[in-house]
Amino acid sequence: MKNVCSMLMLTVLFTACNDSKSKNKASDMDAMTQNMTENPLLVESTLPYGAPDFTQIKNSHFKPALLQGMEAQQQAIIKIVNASEAPTFENTVLALEKSGALLDRVENVFYSLTGAHTNDTLQAIQEEMAPKFSEQRDAIYLNEKLFARIKTLHETKESLGLDAESLKLLEKYFEDFEIAGANLSAADKETLKSYNSRLATLINTFNKTLLEANNSGAIVFTDKEDLAGLSEGVLKSLEDPASKGWKIPLLNTTQQPLLQSLDNRATREKIFNAAWNRADGTAQDTKAIIAEIAELRAQKAALLGFDNYASWSLQNTMAKIPENVFNLFNGLIPAATAKAAVEAKEIQKMIQQKGGDFTLEPWDWNYYGEMVRKAKYDLDENQIKPYFEMKTVLEKGVFYAAEKLYGLTFKERTDIPTYHDEVLVYELFEENGDALGLFYADFFARPSKRGGAWMSNFVTQSKLYDKKPVIYNVCNYPKPAEGEAALLTYDEVETMFHEFGHALHGFFADQQYPSLSGTSVARDFVEFPSQFNENWALYPEILKNYALHYKTGEQIPQALIDKIKNSGTFNQGYSLTENLAASNLDMQWHTIGADKKIDDANAFEKEALRKTKLDVVSAVPPRYRSTYFSHVFGSGYAAGYYSYLWTEMLHHDAYNWFENNGGLTRENGQRIRDMVLSRGNTLPLEEMYKEWRGSDPKIEPMLKARGLK
Ligand SMILES: [Zn+2]
Repeated sequence: MKNVCSMLMLTVLFTACNDSKSKNKASDMDAMTQNMTENPLLVESTLPYGAPDFTQIKNSHFKPALLQGMEAQQQAIIKIVNASEAPTFENTVLALEKSGALLDRVENVFYSLTGAHTNDTLQAIQEEMAPKFSEQRDAIYLNEKLFARIKTLHETKESLGLDAESLKLLEKYFEDFEIAGANLSAADKETLKSYNSRLATLINTFNKTLLEANNSGAIVFTDKEDLAGLSEGVLKSLEDPASKGWKIPLLNTTQQPLLQSLDNRATREKIFNAAWNRADGTAQDTKAIIAEIAELRAQKAALLGFDNYASWSLQNTMAKIPENVFNLFNGLIPAATAKAAVEAKEIQKMIQQKGGDFTLEPWDWNYYGEMVRKAKYDLDENQIKPYFEMKTVLEKGVFYAAEKLYGLTFKERTDIPTYHDEVLVYELFEENGDALGLFYADFFARPSKRGGAWMSNFVTQSKLYDKKPVIYNVCNYPKPAEGEAALLTYDEVETMFHEFGHALHGFFADQQYPSLSGTSVARDFVEFPSQFNENWALYPEILKNYALHYKTGEQIPQALIDKIKNSGTFNQGYSLTENLAASNLDMQWHTIGADKKIDDANAFEKEALRKTKLDVVSAVPPRYRSTYFSHVFGSGYAAGYYSYLWTEMLHHDAYNWFENNGGLTRENGQRIRDMVLSRGNTLPLEEMYKEWRGSDPKIEPMLKARGLK
């Protein structure tokens, strides 16, 4: 089960085509045998729902358990391919599905800790095991005998008498093998291997070069006047002992957050240019690297029988083909850029009002934009936060919405062991009282936790193993001082609803097979249930139940609610345009043909923005330039950045259906649960959505929600 909301972490688990051989060293095997008797990870937990028993699990248990899980999977695969019987669904597909059961169980606990509560030992194991995992995956997906058996079954799939879900499982495995290149001739497999190996090297070089570019792009200022506008606290955090000045590091995006506060225009320009040019024309130039990556990906796609890389990579998504992604872009671009042009005018007016005699440039946008925001929206987080006490938001907001829509009830369980005393545990029940699963909430930031917010499973729902889900949400809310209340910003409230939307997708799963269960869906669908759940945060009936002053208990005043709603439309022209520009660059790079040579990455980028009219508001640059777009050139997210916009379209469209059909009711909740949220990956996503919605998704509700229509 993969984490959702942190898709960057999942980079290319699927790197097919390295040498496939299993290497179990004798010493590792010895360690395994020793630990078998006392290792709690190797036996089924006896706690409710098979929840991991953190009172028993120690760091030293992980490596032997992971190795044992890998060994068990290898043995199971050997048994499948060496079977003398002709392939059947049971002896091949089902056996393959079951082969990783132990490994999955151990990995689920291992990755929960490496994400939310890691330490040096776990990090070292993670680093050591990563290449072994990828080798094991390759060994499975390039195993010719295994693929031959699956192919045989796939060719006769209609006559096997399979139920719909089993048929889907067979198809999924067949496609996974095909995508990995299992269907190629021996010679083509060798070519694919060489492409993959070169790509892995290039991606690695890109990441290393970009890291160096980011580091050496940091700017040192020694005159405090240059940094006027920054608070003493911020200045303190930027102190640079070497220069006795202040060092501004570069963040991964084009815009740098400090530009919003810096009064000195020359300073802003200097920092912006450092960000914009970090990997272009400097000692750490990535232009040749990205050009070669894009060319190679196109050649790889051609080898696998596709026109371009995006066509290959979109096969199993909801969008299916590049054309559908471009249609989404084309629908959004005119409205986004028109709104951005209006915002630019407002900001230009503000510049004049403040006595500026210059034309708005990208480095001015957020500085003067912040003045426009204050003048127009005047939303002060400190006024809002007293109404958003963390546990009240969870129990009387997030849980309450789930009760109203789906009939769920929640009971806190203080008897279930956790990996940290800040983790809350709840048991979920259906309307009829049936138990549904366990939910862990790990909300506070701490040094042992990585940034961001995510959801994943300790135990994945499956009828095959008779398992109900055990699910966790992790956030990074600042921990209040001892004795003080944990008060959230509105963004943090939305994050809680968001992550619980993923959790519901996992809880409502009703699948036979773990591989098809719950959130195991394409990346342009997985963020839909979570984003959709955010809509209930501001729904009047829900809001008045949870937005209560933490001291007085009084409801949040309407004037504050209006301010929250209005502020949601601030700067949306800019933010949508910069996102579209980056998403579009990703797609343009990945729809080139196999014979295309890219001599000049900058010229390619410029033309890509020009021909899609994303350059019409010159003060709005892409969120990432190609040269530092690590989602697509440094990880496995190529031709996938559009997913954020795609799921945004889906969730507004879905909420629009609710608005037109009675809003928050049990009946409406049950309907989307039955038709969408409980279906996992068992149906074609676009058909499933259409069946529920009554039509294909439309972009108008998204434009309206962003204040663009
Ligand atoms: Zn998410």
